[in-house]
Amino acid sequence: MDASKHDLPSKEGDLDEEQHSQSPRKKPRQKLTQNDSVFHDFPVTMIKGLADCLNHWILDKSSFSFKTLTALKFLNCNAADTRQGNTFSQVFCSVKPYRQLHPLGDLFTKGLLMLTDFMTSRQVPQNIEEKRVLGKLLNFLIKNTEAKQSSLKNLEKYNESELAIVLANHLFGKLSTSDTFVINQQSKHRSKDGGQATCPCDVTTCELTGTFGDTSVGNCKVWHGNLGIIINNDTMLESVTIGDQVNNPNDKDDTSTDDEDSSDDCSEQDPRVKLKECLSRNNKLLAESIVFSFLQKQKHPKKEHFLCPCIGVKAREMIVFCYDSQHDVLLESSAIPLLSENLTTLGKINTLAIVVAWLVVNYKYLCNGLTDDMKIAKSMFFSQAESKLNIYNDMLKLGEVGNAYFIEDDAMKFLSPNSSLALRQLNERVLKLRYSTKAEY
Ligand SMILES: [Zn+2]
Repeated sequence: MDASKHDLPSKEGDLDEEQHSQSPRKKPRQKLTQNDSVFHDFPVTMIKGLADCLNHWILDKSSFSFKTLTALKFLNCNAADTRQGNTFSQVFCSVKPYRQLHPLGDLFTKGLLMLTDFMTSRQVPQNIEEKRVLGKLLNFLIKNTEAKQSSLKNLEKYNESELAIVLANHLFGKLSTSDTFVINQQSKHRSKDGGQATCPCDVTTCELTGTFGDTSVGNCKVWHGNLGIIINNDTMLESVTIGDQVNNPNDKDDTSTDDEDSSDDCSEQDPRVKLKECLSRNNKLLAESIVFSFLQKQKHPKKEHFLCPCIGVKAREMIVFCYDSQHDVLLESSAIPLLSENLTTLGKINTLAIVVAWLVVNYKYLCNGLTDDMKIAKSMFFSQAESKLNIYNDMLKLGEVGNAYFIEDDAMKFLSPNSSLALRQLNERVLKLRYSTKAEY
């Protein structure tokens, strides 16, 4: 092995060994085995590339491309509709952004500390799971430079369900501790393909590590429906194409901030057109993020925090939505470009997208929850959904949510009148028996 590979980047601003050894968070170095060769061999040039990426997009607040989070506040929504529970495609939300922005990296200081520990001194986490998580990123980055990634070159050609499957199979799943994921069994890709679980990309030998299954979540009395893909049981992935936004154009989002008028990404074009293709503030995705976070809180009540990130993708970009169902805070990230625009790396996945995807799909290990600053900007979902908040808190389900509809109180109205007539006649006979003879069981 080339000894120079152990050299560390010495660019100004990097944490150096001495600085690091003074840190109270310094951990003993992990003893490495032969299987851990990626930690030894990860090239210095790639460490420098990572340093550029982190500096430019995540850590330097003065950078033009610095990635942020916007807190959103509900003005109106149908989360507690008194007539019926709404499916995700029937969701209506009107939201406005808070003026103060937060650094995206503030949610993931735990993960970024782990990564910079490695970048500055090749320090490897002692915890086996964390070490595995770090290894996933390093291996992926190496493969991304080697592979042609032909599956990801022309993302525009996929329809929305194909896009989510391709990205789960080639990006998000590969960065997670388990590459298994569940795809909505009612997805268009499945029906087109006759139920075969294959990757929609052009590579004929490409194996799909996910399976089709039941991704329904929620409760039929409130927001509910099928999620696009669930990665490793705890991260949601949804794709959006033109036409997904179901807002009534007359009820367009309020694009002013909470305390003053301002423009945002969605306000520059004709709102009707823009809303239809906008990943940002997408009603369906906001609702899915909220329901998924309440569900995680219900399933894992002892977790350190209940901030639950969900990934939204469209052809060339991704956005991360996070809802915290304990503190009632809803955050939306800046758009993250999926593909590299650089001519020398054209067709490859952007390093920023890889790092953010890695932080998000491993949020169990890498996310530290909301900062105190973020906790102040309430989404007001609790008050919007007040009359049904107990359902969101205690009665959500994962799987068979659609089927549950037929045991709900109002299910009777869906019975065919003919069968009702026949049953009514039979019931009259039974009733006669019931009241004319003493029952014996
Ligand atoms: Zn594929």
